[in-house]
Amino acid sequence: MNFRIPFHRVNWVNTSFLFVITTLGVIAAPIFLYLHDLNWIMWSMFAFYMIATGLSITLGYHRLFSHLSFKAKWPVRLGTLIFGACAFENSVLHWASDHRRHHKHTDHDEDPYDITKGFFWAHIGWILFKLDAEQPMDNVKDLRRDSLVRFQDKFYVLIAFVAGLIFPAVVGYFAMGGMVGALAGFLVVGALRVVLVQQSTFFINSLCHCVGNQPYSTRCSARDSWIMALVTYGEGYHNYHHEFQHDYRNGVKPWNFDPTKWSIMLLHKLGLVSDLRRVATSKIVAAEMKEAQRKAEVRLAELAAQDGTLCEHAVAKVNELIEKLKENINEFETSFSESLESSRETLKRWRRETRALMSGLGELRLRSA
Ligand SMILES: [Zn+2]
Ligand SMILES: [Zn+2]
Repeated sequence: MNFRIPFHRVNWVNTSFLFVITTLGVIAAPIFLYLHDLNWIMWSMFAFYMIATGLSITLGYHRLFSHLSFKAKWPVRLGTLIFGACAFENSVLHWASDHRRHHKHTDHDEDPYDITKGFFWAHIGWILFKLDAEQPMDNVKDLRRDSLVRFQDKFYVLIAFVAGLIFPAVVGYFAMGGMVGALAGFLVVGALRVVLVQQSTFFINSLCHCVGNQPYSTRCSARDSWIMALVTYGEGYHNYHHEFQHDYRNGVKPWNFDPTKWSIMLLHKLGLVSDLRRVATSKIVAAEMKEAQRKAEVRLAELAAQDGTLCEHAVAKVNELIEKLKENINEFETSFSESLESSRETLKRWRRETRALMSGLGELRLRSA
């Protein structure tokens, strides 16, 4: 095996920090938990930090600052900037700049976490190794106008260490008693929580581009997976997100597990956020219909090119459903150009016929000649 590490490109600051924090979180914290019991105050603080830090990345860094999918009052911006820093994923300016480039150049060389360079690169490799040239931060000029964002960028390291590691240790010292309590705060609420939240974010860049299905588009590698949604605070519906990146929802269906979306809805009810951006349901269903039609046509062509005969009845059924979908797409485009809302019944029919086409595809079997 020819595997050489390009040492001249290693980002030693990032690599050393990630190595130390991951070792503390994965090895030292479990040993500590085996030897010592944590009291309810410490477990509550751990749960609070897991939720606050994780949501600050998904709701704050991602949907608010990177995609501007809603507007937020200063307490929400300040809170997500402070707890977002506690995840040790850089300042929001750098994070959003990388993320906007990811969306603009998905699966291409300029994509910072380009999955075509392999799972390891997309997951963590891009953080460990320096790019040949430092990328310009010219895509976050809008964010620089926010004084809170500028403040966080300037004091990011200080905020991250004080709020993310030192403060939990100080609380532990008083809440659990002495140095054992301080160590509990530092190792469990600090290091272990940082590792869990970081891995959750890293999975979005790696596994969410490999695992799951693509109901909205196959233009890029992004995929939808409810399993990934469970470990990424709802960001696992990544195929939808790449197709409609400005929507404040990732799990767009009411039953999709998307705690980030629910938190935004709650903050909206409390009057702390406004101007939630949503893609019209007809547009979403139209994307699903176009993708189903494309998949059906590709499958039919594949089977036609192979030796053997297809069940004529199944082919006729699939062709009939493709024609129906084409009519529906035309219907959508006419109503969209005339700015008309499609009725609930129409949307239901479109969805029903899309589902029928997808299950009809499963019935297409090749019989040997
Ligand atoms: Zn992505
Ligand atoms: Zn995004």
